[in-house]
Order: sequence, then structure tokens, then C-alpha cells
Amino acid sequence: MKYSQFAVIGLGRFGSNLANELVEAGYEVMGIDKNPDKVDDLSDHLTFTVAADTTDDEVLKELGVRNFDCVIVAIGNDIQASIMTAILLKDLGVKTVVAKALGELHGRVLEKIGVDRVIYPEKDMAVRVAHQLVQPNILDFIELSKNYTIAELSAPSRISGKTLGELDTRAKFGCSVVALHKKDDIIVAPSANDVVEEADIMVLIGTIQQIEKLEEACTK
Ligand code: ATP
Repeated sequence: MKYSQFAVIGLGRFGSNLANELVEAGYEVMGIDKNPDKVDDLSDHLTFTVAADTTDDEVLKELGVRNFDCVIVAIGNDIQASIMTAILLKDLGVKTVVAKALGELHGRVLEKIGVDRVIYPEKDMAVRVAHQLVQPNILDFIELSKNYTIAELSAPSRISGKTLGELDTRAKFGCSVVALHKKDDIIVAPSANDVVEEADIMVLIGTIQQIEKLEEACTK
């Protein structure tokens, strides 16, 4: 689903970076924090900023948060405030509520009360950095589900000049190349005859284990 208007509640490090990024991307963002200093810091950057305590449902109604397509609860340390805010947003009928969880239990509670997407920024970033450190050719990846991942792999010199047919990643490793990003071009759904050159970015789909096995085999 594509959203056009966002509200970000809690303008700590995570919330303020997220809100700024959404504004940079051209979206309208209302930033809310109970701490007026945080609100002042961002008032020149965001579309609207409000100092308010979001554990009060009257406040949420007055702010019209119901009219936002997506509301992100970026309150972390105060777990009670995070959970109360999320419940009130769901009760008010906000279409999509995204909430940050500090840990597993916090996340499970948020899921139980109907939060549409729970994110674990510290854990997700740690997992991402760990994979990038041990497999430097894996530039980035997105977990599509528990089993499937899309990853970008920078083609090592060892496979330069080979066709996708010769590499035969699906038969050998179980993962498929869904796109090949060349210097000035991107080949979507490449064929067996397409040639991989060093530093091309191969976009792969498979399990993270399959993709890591391919990376290891290509670099050894
Ligand atoms: P980060 O790591 O992103 O800096 P954090 O995990 O330390 O954040 P907190 O400091 O708990 O998270 O919360 C982030 C922001 O949420 C703070 O600026 C805080 O003032 C704000 N906040 C906390 N409770 C409420 C509330 N009830 N209503 C509105 N804002 C709140």
C-alpha cells in the first residue's frame, strides 16, 4: 500500500530520523512528542509538529490522527506509553499503525493488540550489519518472509564473464537471479545468456543460507 500522509509519534533518534527521511522523500509528516524541546528541534523540518502526550485519546482525536494513512509509534523506553498509544490509534481506526519494539515481549504485545507492523530497529540493524561484515559482497537484503530473502550481491571477479546459464545458481544453490544491475542499465528477469561482469549487482531471491553459499562459492 502506498501512503501519502504520515504521523510519527516520539521524536527520539529513531522517530526523528524516520520523520526527516519521509519529508526528504516528499511526504507530509506530522511529528508529535510530549517533550516540547524535541518538537522545537524539528519544527523547521517537518510539515507539522505538535507537543502532546499521545496516551490521552482526546488529544489524539483533536490532532486528527485518524486521517493519517500511516501512524508510526516510535516511543521505545516507555513501554506503557508505546502500548497505550498503539491501542488508542487502533481504536480510533487508524488504517496502518507501525510500532517500534525494544524487545521480543514488547513486540509480541504490540502484535496482539493489532499493530500492523512491528519493527525491531536495533535487532534488524544488528542482523544486517553482521551479515554485511561476514559477507562483504552482500550489499543489502530484505527479508520477504521467514524463508525468503531478496539480496544484492556484488559480483566478484571470479565469476566475471560467465553467463547466468553457466552459473546456474538455481540448480547449484537454490537461489535465482531476478535482476542484474549493470553500470548504466538494469536487466529485469535476465536470461541464461546474460553475462555477469565484475561489480555488476546481482539481485537474488532465495533463503539467506542459499545466497550466502553462492557468495562463498563465488569468492573462494
Ligand atoms: P530513540 O532510541 O529513538 O532515541 P528511545 O528508544 O530512547 O528512542 P524513548 O526515549 O522512550 O525512546 O522515546 C522516544 C521519544 O518518545 C522521546 O522523545 C519521548 O519524549 C517521546 N515520548 C515518550 N512518551 C511519550 C508520550 N506518551 N507521548 C508523546 N511522546 C512520548
